Amino acid sequence: MAEKRDYYEVLGVERNATDQDIKRAYRRLAKKYHPDVNPGDKEAEAKFKEASEAYAVLSDEEKRAKYDQFGHSAFEGAGGGDGGFGGFGGFGDMGDIFGDIFGDLFGGGSGRRTKNGPTRGQDVQSSLDITFTEAAFGCKKNVELWVFDNCDQCNGTGAKAGTKPETCPNCHGSGQMRVQQQTMFGAMTSVRTCSTCGGTGKIIKEKCTRCNGGGRIKVKKTFEVNIPAGIDTGQSIRMSGKGEPGAQGGPNGDLFITVTIRPHPFFSRQGYDVYCSVPISFAQAALGDELEIPTIDGKAQYTIEEGTQTGTRFRLRGKGIPYLRNSNQRGDQYVTVNVEVPKKLNDKQKELLRQFASAMGEDDVHGQKKSFFQKMKDAFE
Ligand SMILES: [Zn+2]
Ligand SMILES: [Zn+2]
Repeated sequence: MAEKRDYYEVLGVERNATDQDIKRAYRRLAKKYHPDVNPGDKEAEAKFKEASEAYAVLSDEEKRAKYDQFGHSAFEGAGGGDGGFGGFGGFGDMGDIFGDIFGDLFGGGSGRRTKNGPTRGQDVQSSLDITFTEAAFGCKKNVELWVFDNCDQCNGTGAKAGTKPETCPNCHGSGQMRVQQQTMFGAMTSVRTCSTCGGTGKIIKEKCTRCNGGGRIKVKKTFEVNIPAGIDTGQSIRMSGKGEPGAQGGPNGDLFITVTIRPHPFFSRQGYDVYCSVPISFAQAALGDELEIPTIDGKAQYTIEEGTQTGTRFRLRGKGIPYLRNSNQRGDQYVTVNVEVPKKLNDKQKELLRQFASAMGEDDVHGQKKSFFQKMKDAFE
């Protein structure tokens, strides 16, 4: 694929362009290259897509800031073509942009996009809390949501049971009206949205009592969500076609489930690596020991050497989180050992420690190591 052009260059605006400039620039390009205006012209279609993508990013404050900072790489990887995960980096919400721009761009113009044409349903966003290990190994979850669906009493028509929406007598179902106007250039025909039916081409005489003529109701639905192993907080799962129903035969929207991982009592996570800390006793640190380390797979053994210092970190290779797109590969686990100083000692234990200190050549048990004082003295001389 050819190198992606800079979005500002695509729209022909300066980097400090205002939202208005960007909208105006896109409108101009969209009018020029829109597939409705250039049927069958592949180059125009490519230009139109390029401009639409640039507009989708630059018209969104958050995406534009990301783009300014990271360029195209801001939207690579996540939300890419292989479907499923990633932030909302993709252009799945183009429908809204089309609605916004083309609503008035072609309203009363060529009239291809009218309310009685197929429209894609809205996307639905939801969130889901999962545990640390559920995120690590993947899981299936049932998510209950109230979502709009076609009214079951009128099958989405909005007409009262036993009746049907009738074809609009004013526009004969087209949703549009041709209006002839005398102008200084002669008679001009323009196309307007039919005011009788509001562009739907249909008239409902008696409204469905359940949905009040809207054709849609909110229903509680249960979705089975497959959480892939390796997913992290903030990432989303896209369930294609599980959003709101499309209108007039248009496709359904998508359902996006954004995942949040609940904190774990002793594991934390950075990318695919797992972090934890383990308390050890002074004797274990000094003499070395075989430790039992908690991992997401269960207990693992790790031998610490004699003289292990507090704060020492070691790595358990391959004990981290499975990679999202390749679960054969895993991150690592980093374990920090913390030497715990006993708080309550009995007389015998204290006596043993004094003997130990004495054996170490520490005459003053309350003081610090002599070597440290020697070093400090040296430092001031
Ligand atoms: Zn009409
Ligand atoms: Zn209904």
